[in-house]
Formats: sequence, C-alpha cells, structure tokens
Amino acid sequence: IMRKFIVGNWKMNGTSSDLSEIEAIATMSANYKTSVDSALCLPATLIDRATSLLPAFTLGGQDCHMQVSGAHTGCVSAAMLADAGATLTLVGHSERRAGQNESDADIRGKAAAAHVAGLKVIICVGETLEERDAGKALDIVLDQVQKSVPDNAASDWLSIAYEPVWAIGTGRIPEDSDVAEMHGAIREQLVARFGIDGESMSILYGGSMNGDNAAMLMAIPNVDGGLIGGASLTAAKFEPILAAA
Ligand code: 13P
Repeated sequence: IMRKFIVGNWKMNGTSSDLSEIEAIATMSANYKTSVDSALCLPATLIDRATSLLPAFTLGGQDCHMQVSGAHTGCVSAAMLADAGATLTLVGHSERRAGQNESDADIRGKAAAAHVAGLKVIICVGETLEERDAGKALDIVLDQVQKSVPDNAASDWLSIAYEPVWAIGTGRIPEDSDVAEMHGAIREQLVARFGIDGESMSILYGGSMNGDNAAMLMAIPNVDGGLIGGASLTAAKFEPILAAA
C-alpha cells in the first residue's frame, strides 16, 4: 500500500479548551492530504463539537458498544459516534483489553457493529512484554487477529494496528526485524483469509512512534501507517510524523 494512514489516539485527554489544538492539527494535516490520510480519535465528548468546527477533517472514536442502544450505562454505541460526526473508530486497544477486560469476541462484535453504523474500523492487537520474552508474540497476535476480525471484513473499512503493549508510552520500540516479521505475518494471515483484498488492508504500527522514528518505521515492509498516542496531542509533534509518511 503506497498511501500511508496516520491516526492520532488522544486517549482520555482533551476538553473544550483543546479544540484550538485539534483545529491546529486539522489545518496542519490538510497540507499533507495529497500524500497521506490522517485522522484523530478523540474522546467521545469532543467529537460533536470538533466535527462542527472541522467538517473536512476525519474524526473517530476510541471504542464503541456492540449494541445500537439500550441498558448499558456509561457506554457509547457506534451509531452514537456516527451521529456525533465520527467516520472511524478504534476497537480493541490494549488499554481496553487489559483495563476493561475486553475479549477478542467482544472486539469482533464491536467492529461488526461499527461497520453496520457506517464507521471505518481500526482493530488493535499486540503482545505484552512477558509474551514476547516467552517467544509467543507471533502466536498471540495472530490469534488476536484471527478472533477479533469479523468474517465480512474488507479493506474499504477495516485496518489493523499492531501495538506491542510494552512499546506504548514507554519510548521503547521493537527492532525493525521484529516489526517486519509481525507485519508480514499479519499480512499473510489476512491474505490467506480474505484473498487479494487482504493485500489492501492497512496494517498500522503503534507504540512510541514519533517524529524521530516514524520514517524508519514506515519504511518497513507492510507498515502502512501509524497509530500515535502522545505525539498526536499537538500539531508540532504530529506534523513530523505526517511529513515522514
Ligand atoms: P504512544 O504513541 O503514546 O506510545 O501510544 C500508542 C498508542 O497506544 C496509540 O493507540
């Protein structure tokens, strides 16, 4: 895939006072739109206002419930994200797999619900340090991909983000060869399952990506872009990543 996809994940950061920074990121991103697709996954509470302010910029959620509505206190459905103006959502981020006990089956249900609501979906996968040290990283991640990705997935709505848990927010990144091996293995599995369309599904890398390492990471085969936490919070930090794509 030639065209890179760069997505910021704001996690649990941002209130109305940050709308000006979101606007700065959108304005900066527009300068790169001929060469790179970019988006920000915001806290659900900001999506509606950010959409009103920036109708041309791609905004997403960070999670959704698998039901459209109902007795699920505190949850937000995919239909609600879409109604607020999101065109994209993350599902299965490791912080939700660990912190909210989400299973692969939950994540598959959420991804399917998001697709029904008309959202594009990024399914996140990744191993812990303990799993990598035990030599199980490939098995763990391929199992997550197999069980989290719905059978009707297609490249026009589904992307994968490989985020080693131990690389998130730590400043540590894997060896190039480990990224190449993992992304290559995910690609092989997608092609085995979805045929030629599996070649077109974007596989993003996430975990301590920044302006200094983005070019190197995105030069690795089958790294089709990035999912960026900390370095997506300001236009100044996000811009060099778009420039490297
Ligand atoms: P950092 O870029 O802050 O390491 O976060 C990565 C991440 O979890 C994106 O979803």
